[in-house]
Order: sequence, then C-alpha cells, then structure tokens
Amino acid sequence: MNIIDVGLEFNSNMTLRNVNSIKRIILHHSGVTVLQSVETIHNYHKNTNGWAGIGYHFYIRKDGSIYKGRPLECLGAHASGSNSDSIGVCCEGNFEVEQMPEAQKNSLIELINYLIDNYSIEKIQGHKDVNSTSCPGSNFPLEEMKHLLNSKDEQPSNEETNKNIYNDGLVNCIYDIQEWLNRHYSTGLALDNIYGTETKKALIKGLQTELNVQFNKGLSVDGIFGTNTYNACINVRIRAQGNITMLIQMCLFIKGYNVSMDKKFGQDTIAKVKQFQNDNGLSVDGIVGKNTFNALFN
Ligand SMILES: [Zn+2]
Repeated sequence: MNIIDVGLEFNSNMTLRNVNSIKRIILHHSGVTVLQSVETIHNYHKNTNGWAGIGYHFYIRKDGSIYKGRPLECLGAHASGSNSDSIGVCCEGNFEVEQMPEAQKNSLIELINYLIDNYSIEKIQGHKDVNSTSCPGSNFPLEEMKHLLNSKDEQPSNEETNKNIYNDGLVNCIYDIQEWLNRHYSTGLALDNIYGTETKKALIKGLQTELNVQFNKGLSVDGIFGTNTYNACINVRIRAQGNITMLIQMCLFIKGYNVSMDKKFGQDTIAKVKQFQNDNGLSVDGIVGKNTFNALFN
C-alpha cells in the first residue's frame, strides 16, 4: 500500500496520544462532489476552522490515492467526543448523492486492513454512528467496511453450527488429536498417540482444507506447508472460533504449550500464542498470521 505524504505543515497546538490507545476507525466523506486535494482540506481546516491542520488522519481520493493527514500519534479533529481513541479516515466525495468508485473503495479496504493489522482496532464506525450527521452518506459502503473487522477472523464453519451431527468430544492428548483429524479430514492416521511426520502432515492438510472451504483459497491439500499455503493464511485473532482455531490449538499443544483445545480463541489461547511468539522470535501480538502459522505448522 502506498500512503502519500505531501508534508503538510501543522500548527503546534496538536494533542499527542499513545498509539496504543487507538481502538477504532471512524469513516467520513468530504461531503462535496467537487474534487479536493488533501492540501485544500488541510488549508480549510487550518485557516477557516482555525485548527492545527487537517482533522483526518487519512484522506482517500476518488482515484484511490491515499494521503497521510494528521499523524496517528496526534489526536484527530473529525468526530466530536470520539477523537481520543480513533483514527479518522475521509473519502473524497458526497456519498449522499454519489457512488464510491471502485479504485477508491479498494484503497479504503486496503487501508482499513492495514490499520486492523497494525493497531488494536475493535470497532469500525461511520461518523453518523457517533455524532448527529449523515456523514459518510447513505451510499457509502459502511456495512462492508465494518465487516472487514470480522471477515479477517475465522468464521464458524457449517459443521459447527450443526453440532448435533457430531459430538466432537474432548481433545486433550495426541491420540485425541489423531482421532479428530481422521474424523474431520479422512487423514487415516494410525492412532498411536505419537506425534510424528504423518500427524504433522495431517494438521497441514486440515489447515489447507479449512482455508479452501472457508476462504476459497484453492490450495492443493498435500500436507506440505509451502509458499502457497503461507500466502493463503489468514489472520486469526481473539474471538475467532472454529476448526482453524482448533488446529492452531493442536499445534500449540504439540509444541508443549498446554492450551485447551476447544476451538475458541479466548484469553487462554491468546496467552499461549503470545508465549509461543515470544519463544520463537516472532512479533508478540497474539494474532496468528502468516509468520505464526508458518512457525506453528512447520
Ligand atoms: Zn464526517
């Protein structure tokens, strides 16, 4: 992703904040159909409103170019009463009357995903969710953007919502893991209660199957964690639940982290993931992404 920094100059009266306090993204539109550069908005906020400078942290033009506005470590000025823990993102246009161009929408998705991956975002809101306004306009793809926060998590698979088909049983040793893998992925493992090459391959096959079924990744289910599988890995984080979470828990268990294998990515799992990340020189964020998957399954 390319974020353009045009070097906007701010007055010195900006309030600093700790970026760890950032919890949400608030989305806006510029509210006018006329094209405006980031400098135009910056100068308006600075000279007409008398602010330190542009109130938004990011500005996305209709052509999809993304501009840096106010630094993230400075409080924005975009949503009264909601600035302290939020990132303000503004899209050029008036989405009461216009539709968002594809290029702009794609950049917005890319930016939001980037922010989700790098900050502790818990909520995505429209300006109208926090203040009395129609911003960002009724045609703004707001629900789709809010959904990005969850779509990066694993969704429970159909099998799980149909619990009475299977009683999944308690899983708390290698034998149980082998039995579970056989039942879910027809992996034909010998139930010898020993973790070896075949069980490792079966875990990878399970992951590949889930990535195909849940996320249409089209991987060959070969039990080898190669580049394609690496690239197909999603981010699994707190509140996820389902078979991918189960497979992650199984890998943690096998590697000596005593986690409950219950398919729920809760506080226990996050603590063990962080421990594993720390022990393996990974960035310790409690989110299972490509690198953590790689270290767990390889
Ligand atoms: Zn707004």
